[in-house]
Amino acid sequence: MPVPMIDLRAQYRRIKTEIDAAVAEVFETQGFVGGINIDRLEKGIEAYLGVGCAIAVASGTDALLLSLKAMGVGPGDEVITTPFTFFATAGAIANLGAKPVFADIRPDCFTIDPDAIEALVTPQTKAIVPVHLYGQCADMDPINAIASKYGLAVLEDAAQALGARDKGRPACTLAPMAAISFYPTKNLGGAGDGGMVVTQDAALAQRVRLLRAHGAGTTYIHTIVGTNSRLDALQAALLNVKLPHLDQWNAERRAQAAYYAERFAEIPEVIPPVERAGNFHVYHQYVIRLPHRDAARDLLRARGIGCAVFYPLALHMQECFRYLGYEEKDCTHAAQACREVLALPMYPELTPDQQDEVVAAIKEHLA
Ligand SMILES: *Cc1c(COP(=O)(O)O)cnc(C)c1O
Repeated sequence: MPVPMIDLRAQYRRIKTEIDAAVAEVFETQGFVGGINIDRLEKGIEAYLGVGCAIAVASGTDALLLSLKAMGVGPGDEVITTPFTFFATAGAIANLGAKPVFADIRPDCFTIDPDAIEALVTPQTKAIVPVHLYGQCADMDPINAIASKYGLAVLEDAAQALGARDKGRPACTLAPMAAISFYPTKNLGGAGDGGMVVTQDAALAQRVRLLRAHGAGTTYIHTIVGTNSRLDALQAALLNVKLPHLDQWNAERRAQAAYYAERFAEIPEVIPPVERAGNFHVYHQYVIRLPHRDAARDLLRARGIGCAVFYPLALHMQECFRYLGYEEKDCTHAAQACREVLALPMYPELTPDQQDEVVAAIKEHLA
């Protein structure tokens, strides 16, 4: 029985009637830009998180870019982030003419190591961008403590972690700004690109609202230089249908993670993901470490079992960042994770029988 990495059609089947009606309504009204669906989604995310202002934008990448821009990050500034993340986190920093500065990760939970951050702070440091990787919050208290000690901004990259919590507080409310992605495979996914900025600061919210609309608060009156980063009404209509289901889907992911953990407890060579104490992990990805990872990946694929390597090359070793002068040993835990991690099938509709197939293939690899 083949097991896909993710099956978006299975989710669609669960809510097809609601989605089809919401999409049909957008076509009926032909209101594709702005409008009630965008307002409803922004208010829905604000209500879901309990605090902060939400501003819908065109993608998670734009959410990062516009947040950093609103914070005033630009040429000459340094921004400390993790080298073990999707490229967009560091790409947004570099695209603003600022310098990404990479702090190594914690080997147990793959998120930025707060103890690696302070030594990297210079007079040019402007912000810290922790990433809530795979659906688990970075260790925010020590990060925020360093930020307040040196007067730095903090932006949470919560693209993979909507619904996650750190000591009971939701991701996206743990720092002054946060970026969400609605890329189709994310825990709350649209039918294309989409994103959201969340901020606890009304002035920053106002700046992001201006930046996403060419800097115009009033049509054709431009107070700052912005861009076009609208979220489509069609995406918002779909996301409004999905948002009320998010907690249920995340609960299903957690149950699957618990089942994998139970099965992997029998296999000492497999290191399952660690949920840091006080965290509520939403398993955007279920990522194990194991010996001979590439061979494991090849065997799973040969057996029709989806798997993926997030991420095969750490950002400090990417060709486009060679000018920064990093060596592999500068972020040794990130480099090691790149060699050992394997993401397994994980989505709300995954069944225990399918998970058994995955575990059987891993056992076959280790035999
Ligand atoms: C998906 C993702 C992004 C970018 O989001 P897009 O909507 O694809 O632009 C940024 N950071 C992380 C960690 C992501 O996983």
